[in-house]
Amino acid sequence: MNTPGHSLLNLAILGRAPRPELTWPILIGSWLPDAALFVFYAWARWSNIPEAQIWDEMYYEPFWQDIFAIGNSIPLALFGLVLFMVLKRPRLTAVCASMLLHHLEDLPLHHDDAHRHFWPLTDYRFISPVSYWDSDHFGRYGALAELSLVALASIVLWRRLRSRWSRGLILLFNGLYLVVYFVGYLQPSL
Ligand SMILES: [Zn+2]
Repeated sequence: MNTPGHSLLNLAILGRAPRPELTWPILIGSWLPDAALFVFYAWARWSNIPEAQIWDEMYYEPFWQDIFAIGNSIPLALFGLVLFMVLKRPRLTAVCASMLLHHLEDLPLHHDDAHRHFWPLTDYRFISPVSYWDSDHFGRYGALAELSLVALASIVLWRRLRSRWSRGLILLFNGLYLVVYFVGYLQPSL
Protein backbone atom coordinates (compact mmCIF):
# COMPACT_ATOMS: atom_id res chain seq x y z
CA MET A 1 0.00 0.00 0.00
CA ASN A 2 1.21 3.54 -0.68
CA THR A 3 2.28 5.65 2.29
CA PRO A 4 -0.56 8.26 2.09
CA GLY A 5 -3.06 5.38 2.07
CA HIS A 6 -1.58 4.07 5.32
CA SER A 7 -1.78 7.53 6.90
CA LEU A 8 -5.45 8.12 6.03
CA LEU A 9 -6.49 4.59 7.00
CA ASN A 10 -4.56 4.55 10.28
CA LEU A 11 -5.89 7.96 11.32
CA ALA A 12 -9.45 6.85 10.57
CA ILE A 13 -9.05 3.59 12.53
CA LEU A 14 -6.84 4.68 15.45
CA GLY A 15 -7.59 8.39 15.81
CA ARG A 16 -10.31 9.74 18.05
CA ALA A 17 -11.72 13.26 18.06
CA PRO A 18 -11.17 13.73 21.85
CA ARG A 19 -7.51 12.61 21.57
CA PRO A 20 -5.99 15.09 19.09
CA GLU A 21 -2.57 14.72 20.76
CA LEU A 22 -2.33 11.26 19.21
CA THR A 23 -2.74 12.51 15.62
CA TRP A 24 0.98 13.10 15.05
CA PRO A 25 2.12 9.83 16.67
CA ILE A 26 -0.36 7.93 14.47
CA LEU A 27 0.88 9.77 11.37
CA ILE A 28 4.53 9.12 12.28
CA GLY A 29 3.77 5.43 12.88
CA SER A 30 2.15 5.23 9.45
CA TRP A 31 5.33 6.64 7.84
CA LEU A 32 8.10 4.87 9.80
CA PRO A 33 7.84 1.45 8.07
CA ASP A 34 8.44 3.19 4.71
CA ALA A 35 11.13 5.58 6.00
CA ALA A 36 14.03 3.35 4.93
CA LEU A 37 12.47 3.14 1.47
CA PHE A 38 12.49 6.93 1.11
CA VAL A 39 16.14 7.10 2.21
CA PHE A 40 16.98 4.29 -0.23
CA TYR A 41 15.22 5.99 -3.13
CA ALA A 42 16.65 9.45 -2.38
CA TRP A 43 20.15 8.00 -2.17
CA ALA A 44 19.74 6.00 -5.40
CA ARG A 45 18.43 9.03 -7.30
CA TRP A 46 21.23 11.17 -5.92
CA SER A 47 23.71 8.55 -7.18
CA ASN A 48 22.12 8.85 -10.67
CA ILE A 49 21.09 5.21 -10.78
CA PRO A 50 18.45 4.57 -13.49
CA GLU A 51 14.87 4.11 -12.25
CA ALA A 52 14.55 0.54 -13.60
CA GLN A 53 17.76 -0.56 -11.89
CA ILE A 54 16.63 0.97 -8.58
CA TRP A 55 13.42 -1.06 -8.43
CA ASP A 56 14.40 -4.21 -10.35
CA GLU A 57 17.85 -4.81 -8.86
CA MET A 58 18.96 -2.61 -5.99
CA TYR A 59 15.69 -2.92 -4.10
CA TYR A 60 16.32 -6.68 -3.81
CA GLU A 61 19.95 -6.45 -2.68
CA PRO A 62 20.43 -8.24 0.69
CA PHE A 63 21.86 -5.09 2.30
CA TRP A 64 18.69 -3.06 1.65
CA GLN A 65 16.36 -6.00 2.23
CA ASP A 66 17.85 -6.39 5.73
CA ILE A 67 17.21 -2.72 6.47
CA PHE A 68 13.64 -2.88 5.11
CA ALA A 69 12.99 -5.98 7.27
CA ILE A 70 13.57 -4.00 10.49
CA GLY A 71 10.98 -1.32 9.68
CA ASN A 72 8.44 -3.90 8.49
CA SER A 73 8.72 -6.29 11.42
CA ILE A 74 5.42 -7.26 13.05
CA PRO A 75 7.16 -8.82 16.12
CA LEU A 76 9.15 -5.59 16.74
CA ALA A 77 6.05 -3.38 16.45
CA LEU A 78 4.13 -5.73 18.73
CA PHE A 79 6.96 -5.71 21.27
CA GLY A 80 7.02 -1.89 21.25
CA LEU A 81 3.24 -1.75 21.57
CA VAL A 82 3.18 -3.95 24.68
CA LEU A 83 6.25 -2.28 26.20
CA PHE A 84 4.88 1.26 25.89
CA MET A 85 1.43 0.19 27.07
CA VAL A 86 3.02 -1.24 30.23
CA LEU A 87 5.12 1.93 30.66
CA LYS A 88 1.94 4.00 30.12
CA ARG A 89 3.36 6.10 27.27
CA PRO A 90 0.28 6.78 25.11
CA ARG A 91 2.08 8.64 22.31
CA LEU A 92 4.71 5.93 21.81
CA THR A 93 2.00 3.27 22.10
CA ALA A 94 0.12 5.04 19.29
CA VAL A 95 3.28 5.11 17.12
CA CYS A 96 3.70 1.33 17.53
CA ALA A 97 -0.02 0.60 17.02
CA SER A 98 0.08 2.59 13.80
CA MET A 99 3.22 0.74 12.61
CA LEU A 100 1.55 -2.58 13.35
CA LEU A 101 -1.54 -1.54 11.41
CA HIS A 102 0.68 -0.46 8.50
CA HIS A 103 2.17 -3.99 8.39
CA LEU A 104 -1.27 -5.61 8.45
CA GLU A 105 -2.40 -3.36 5.59
CA ASP A 106 0.68 -4.30 3.52
CA LEU A 107 0.39 -8.04 4.16
CA PRO A 108 -2.44 -8.80 1.67
CA LEU A 109 -1.20 -6.40 -1.05
CA HIS A 110 2.45 -7.26 -1.78
CA HIS A 111 3.63 -9.94 -4.22
CA ASP A 112 7.21 -9.66 -5.62
CA ASP A 113 8.02 -6.97 -3.08
CA ALA A 114 6.59 -8.85 -0.07
CA HIS A 115 8.28 -7.86 3.17
CA ARG A 116 9.84 -10.15 5.77
CA HIS A 117 7.07 -9.21 8.17
CA PHE A 118 8.01 -11.80 10.79
CA TRP A 119 11.71 -10.89 11.08
CA PRO A 120 13.66 -11.59 13.35
CA LEU A 121 11.67 -14.73 14.20
CA THR A 122 11.75 -16.02 10.61
CA ASP A 123 12.63 -14.79 7.10
CA TYR A 124 9.29 -16.07 5.78
CA ARG A 125 7.51 -13.81 3.31
CA PHE A 126 3.79 -14.01 2.72
CA ILE A 127 3.54 -13.74 -1.09
CA SER A 128 0.05 -12.40 -1.65
CA PRO A 129 -1.58 -13.26 -5.00
CA VAL A 130 -2.69 -9.62 -5.17
CA SER A 131 -0.31 -6.68 -5.54
CA TYR A 132 -1.27 -3.06 -4.85
CA TRP A 133 0.44 -2.01 -8.10
CA ASP A 134 1.78 -4.90 -10.22
CA SER A 135 -0.59 -5.58 -13.14
CA ASP A 136 0.91 -9.09 -13.48
CA HIS A 137 -0.62 -9.84 -10.08
CA PHE A 138 -4.10 -8.31 -10.12
CA GLY A 139 -2.59 -4.86 -9.55
CA ARG A 140 -5.66 -3.27 -11.04
CA TYR A 141 -7.83 -4.79 -8.32
CA GLY A 142 -5.27 -4.27 -5.57
CA ALA A 143 -5.06 -0.59 -6.49
CA LEU A 144 -8.85 -0.39 -6.60
CA ALA A 145 -9.02 -1.96 -3.12
CA GLU A 146 -6.56 0.65 -1.82
CA LEU A 147 -8.46 3.46 -3.54
CA SER A 148 -11.74 2.28 -1.98
CA LEU A 149 -10.23 1.99 1.50
CA VAL A 150 -8.77 5.49 1.15
CA ALA A 151 -12.20 6.85 0.11
CA LEU A 152 -13.89 5.14 3.09
CA ALA A 153 -11.27 6.40 5.53
CA SER A 154 -11.65 9.88 4.05
CA ILE A 155 -15.39 9.93 4.74
CA VAL A 156 -14.72 9.01 8.38
CA LEU A 157 -11.99 11.66 8.67
CA TRP A 158 -14.04 14.34 6.88
CA ARG A 159 -16.69 14.09 9.57
CA ARG A 160 -14.13 14.13 12.36
CA LEU A 161 -11.74 16.83 11.14
CA ARG A 162 -13.12 20.30 10.57
CA SER A 163 -10.08 22.45 9.78
CA ARG A 164 -9.59 23.70 6.24
CA TRP A 165 -6.08 22.28 6.22
CA SER A 166 -7.05 18.73 7.04
CA ARG A 167 -10.02 18.75 4.68
CA GLY A 168 -7.83 20.25 1.94
CA LEU A 169 -5.29 17.45 2.42
CA ILE A 170 -8.02 14.81 2.32
CA LEU A 171 -9.30 16.21 -0.99
CA LEU A 172 -5.77 16.49 -2.37
CA PHE A 173 -4.87 12.87 -1.62
CA ASN A 174 -8.15 11.51 -2.93
CA GLY A 175 -7.63 13.51 -6.12
CA LEU A 176 -4.11 12.13 -6.48
CA TYR A 177 -5.34 8.58 -5.94
CA LEU A 178 -8.02 9.01 -8.60
CA VAL A 179 -5.58 10.48 -11.14
CA VAL A 180 -2.98 7.75 -10.50
CA TYR A 181 -5.61 5.04 -10.80
CA PHE A 182 -7.09 6.52 -13.96
CA VAL A 183 -3.71 6.99 -15.67
CA GLY A 184 -2.34 3.65 -14.47
CA TYR A 185 -5.26 1.30 -15.01
CA LEU A 186 -8.16 2.83 -16.91
CA GLN A 187 -6.35 4.22 -19.96
CA PRO A 188 -5.55 1.29 -22.23
CA SER A 189 -3.41 3.46 -24.53
CA LEU A 190 -0.83 4.14 -21.81
ZN1 LIG B 1 4.53 -0.35 3.73
